[in-house]
Amino acid sequence: MHVMTRRWVLVLGAAGLIVALGLASGPLASRSASVAAACREHAKLTPRRGLPQPGVDLYRDPGSAQRSDLREAGYPGVGLMLSGRVFDTGCRPMARVMLDFFHADSHGRYDRRQIRFHGHQYTDEEGRYLLRTIVPKGYLRRAPHIHVAVQAEGGPLLTTQLFFPPTLRAYGMNVAALNAHDPGFSKVLTVRLGSRRSSGYSAMFDFVIARG
Ligand code: FE
Repeated sequence: MHVMTRRWVLVLGAAGLIVALGLASGPLASRSASVAAACREHAKLTPRRGLPQPGVDLYRDPGSAQRSDLREAGYPGVGLMLSGRVFDTGCRPMARVMLDFFHADSHGRYDRRQIRFHGHQYTDEEGRYLLRTIVPKGYLRRAPHIHVAVQAEGGPLLTTQLFFPPTLRAYGMNVAALNAHDPGFSKVLTVRLGSRRSSGYSAMFDFVIARG
């Protein structure tokens, strides 16, 4: 991100410092049966841990509107419905976890006011979230990505970015090449992308975070 206020500088400075495990979801049909096992398997991976970030509490002060639909008239783009769940490191679903999403538009531009394509929501009792938005375009040499901050009440803050697989077709991007040349790209943080429909793409991503 190249457009940031102090808030986002602080947040991004914490990126990867807390338990930062991404868990790509399995196919929808087998998901409910396998997700706990997949989570347990994924949780074995070495988490990235770091120093606490005193004073950064997005749960109490997200700095964005509470909304799960970021689509706006006048800002067309390829539709994206991103969904998933948030688990703790014991693979238990976490309710009322705050997720803050922020991304560029279909031209690779950020809203300097950090209002457009920016919003937060909370997981339901099953730990689920659902985001309706558009596919962001990459900018400069960045692969297309979505900034996300995840935090349970009283818990550590996770800030990270979600990426897309090369199967994504949007805005003429060569996603494979963009991913390959972006040092920030992480396969672990790549969403599982469904096939494109008239409404756009569906994608899934689960998070595993520390409970506090
Ligand atoms: Fe960015």
